[in-house]
Amino acid sequence: MSERQIIRDMARYDEHDDLAHRWSLVIDGETVSKLWVDPETGEIAQVETPAAHQGNGYASTLYRQAASEIAIFHAPEAHRTYEGDRFARSVGGETLPCLHGCCTDGPDFDEE
Ligand SMILES: [Zn+2]
Repeated sequence: MSERQIIRDMARYDEHDDLAHRWSLVIDGETVSKLWVDPETGEIAQVETPAAHQGNGYASTLYRQAASEIAIFHAPEAHRTYEGDRFARSVGGETLPCLHGCCTDGPDFDEE
């Protein structure tokens, strides 16, 4: 059996970002998936799984672990990337309303 570890710490997604909660799944010393969560809103900021490790449910494992520790939310649908939207639909859970005022029912955003 391989050795599986979930590590929680605070990290920046890149150097310009604020510190965020980060959960990392490490299998036999190799990080196979990472999930970042905004500490103020609980919004999932990033999910990253190298291509070689995709399709194994690793990101879902991190989602469930993070959700068991703090309240986390998917980004509003209009803010999601294609991958982020697929991820949100596959793991389920709560979605954050838009906090930026860009998704109100103005004519520019009405897709109905
Ligand atoms: Zn918005």
